[in-house]
Amino acid sequence: MDLDEAASIVSVSPSATGAELNEFLSKRGLMFGGGHCPDVGLGGFLLQGGMGWNCKNWGWACEQVAAIDVVTATGDILHCNSTCNSDLLWAARGAGPGFPAVVLRFHLRVRKVFAHMLSSAFIYPISQYRDVMKWVLEIAPLYGRDTEIVAVSVTPEGMDKRCIVPLFLTFQDNEENAKAALADANRSRPEGFITEVVNKPTSLAAEYRDQANANPPGYRFAASNAYIKNDADVVSVLEEAFTKPLSRESFALYFAMSPCSRKPLPDMALSMQTDHYFALYSIWKSKEDDLTCKRLARDIMLGIEAHAEGAYLGDADFQVRKTRFWTDECATKLMDLRRKWDQQGVICGYLDVGDQSGTAGLANVSEWCEEKW
Ligand SMILES: Cc1cc2nc3c(=O)[nH]c(=O)nc-3n(C[C@H](O)[C@H](O)[C@H](O)COP(=O)(O)OP(=O)(O)OC[C@H]3O[C@@H](n4cnc5c(N)ncnc54)[C@H](O)[C@@H]3O)c2cc1C
Repeated sequence: MDLDEAASIVSVSPSATGAELNEFLSKRGLMFGGGHCPDVGLGGFLLQGGMGWNCKNWGWACEQVAAIDVVTATGDILHCNSTCNSDLLWAARGAGPGFPAVVLRFHLRVRKVFAHMLSSAFIYPISQYRDVMKWVLEIAPLYGRDTEIVAVSVTPEGMDKRCIVPLFLTFQDNEENAKAALADANRSRPEGFITEVVNKPTSLAAEYRDQANANPPGYRFAASNAYIKNDADVVSVLEEAFTKPLSRESFALYFAMSPCSRKPLPDMALSMQTDHYFALYSIWKSKEDDLTCKRLARDIMLGIEAHAEGAYLGDADFQVRKTRFWTDECATKLMDLRRKWDQQGVICGYLDVGDQSGTAGLANVSEWCEEKW
């Protein structure tokens, strides 16, 4: 990793993880809004857009990609920025796994590290789902700009029942500001919680540890997601997903995206977003349960799909479900660029079932791969 301190640009390999990058940057008083889990590689994460730390307010991680170095399908090594090979930079910011070249290095804009991170979490019985989700939806769009807000349906450690847990994580310069940032949530949370952990001092390293625990190694995963339409009755749309019994390790997640979702995006491939991001992680241990657990996830998503604008490439499996990942205009431009830069399909594409999409790329329409079920 190389840091240009004057320009606040770090140059990094796609094989580095967000945690490794932040370990390097934190020693220099800087950070990058990489993925929430320590083992998420920057390559896949940034190419698909990157829902990093405090994405709700700081925007998509790929917005901080200033330039890339790539090797093309014809074996040329190119530098791509806003003035040279700019169409490849456009594609690298949201193409996902269909990016038609191999990224050798990302040049990323970094931000100063926040000395004080505090979190507040409130654990409610799942029977409180409607009240709690309604509160999260009300409070999230207007909340302070350095606070990330999620609501998770999860079986917390030491408990044996599914709960709904709103989590507020704030990034601030000093303790006073951090406490002030969480005060609104701490004061206005609905009654009826089982327990609360208020103003807990935390750090990126501690958050990475928690995320690693929530995504245990050695398990089998089916992930799916949806951007729920802005005008949907979100509480009702997500009710089944949040309350249906799933395995102990499974979880459902609501990620508040407004106000980022209301700001015009820069000109880049990433073009799909709404105020409400939902992701479902069905997690199980044994291969024998594959079909049951995958079907459970599919059935929940089928109920949500009619209320979705599209989905995020990051928590998607094209071998199970394809849908709208971009606006139609950006999808058309992206698939044209794929054919321009990789006519023969030398670089691997979206790898849907049997690689049917091939050099044509994805059709950007909703489609379930039924033969898997
Ligand atoms: C536990 C867990 C937590 C996650 N949390 C988040 C999160 O907080 N936010 C978020 O946005 N996403 C998150 N994700 C999704 C994650 O960002 C994607 O799975 C991403 O693809 C991981 O990138 P990778 O480089 O590690 O994976 P890889 O499997 O190595 O890459 C995925 C694909 O990207 C392409 N690719 C990767 N590197 C290159 C390269 N150098 N050049 C060209 N193409 C390349 C390839 O097509 C590859 O198949 C999470 C995933 C997991 C498993």
